[in-house]
Amino acid sequence: MEHALRVESASKLFPQGRGGSVLALSSTSLNVRENEFLAIVGPSGCGKSTLLRLMAGLEQPTEGGVSFRGQTVTRPSGRIGLVFQDYSLLPWRSIRENIELGLEFQGLAGRPAREKALEHLELVGLSSFENAYPHELSGGMRQRAAIARALAVEPDVLLMDEPFGALDAHTRLLMQRELLGIWEKRKKTVVFVTHSIDEAVYLSDRIVVMEKDPGRVIEVLDVPLPRPRTRKNPDFGRLTESILELLKY
Ligand code: ADP
Ligand code: MG
Repeated sequence: MEHALRVESASKLFPQGRGGSVLALSSTSLNVRENEFLAIVGPSGCGKSTLLRLMAGLEQPTEGGVSFRGQTVTRPSGRIGLVFQDYSLLPWRSIRENIELGLEFQGLAGRPAREKALEHLELVGLSSFENAYPHELSGGMRQRAAIARALAVEPDVLLMDEPFGALDAHTRLLMQRELLGIWEKRKKTVVFVTHSIDEAVYLSDRIVVMEKDPGRVIEVLDVPLPRPRTRKNPDFGRLTESILELLKY
């Protein structure tokens, strides 16, 4: 099995308060396989975002390392896309212009950029909103635009940090299904952070379970459920229960 991302004995120590420090991530090793949908779950403060930021090259580990296809990750790259909970769309740019922004950073402008933006707006079902501004869209639509922006630069890996955390329950379920549709069409490696165990079981091939104080991986589980998934499958409930137990709820 080929690995896209490798995290090797990575620790992250943050200074905190007066001379204190917090071990956000304690000697963590993890391999992300090519094209898999990997979820990361765990309580608030267990280092999920820290682990993702290390994978993205937004932070450097205090010890250990992260590599992408054999190369040490030292800074963000177009090969690794990011989607956050807060959409991070620029309010003064239309939806299409927001998507073109990432392409501009890659040196693509003018008509090719516009075409690529439109192609990805279509992928997320926002074709008729290319000229709308972020404030004119619902939360779900904004998140779809953020996903389109991340995908437009055609990264190999998509890192998502609680992307549906701010959505209402109904929109969240719709977005889960849409994301799976996109993942199946585009076959990307996805690392998806969520505090929802249900969401992790619904979406992923494997689930990384983390605990806090210090932040660490306590288990990596396979999700042997057939796709498309249904929450009515008794194995769905059983797996959810066993993760809740691991986390001692
Ligand atoms: P999660 O995403 O699982 O909620 P985080 O990775 O955001 O957890 O944080 C893990 C721990 O590291 C927390 O105790 C948090 O307060 C601390 N932390 C995260 N980022 C920083 C930072 N930039 N500076 C100081 N402490 C941080
Ligand atoms: Mg977080």
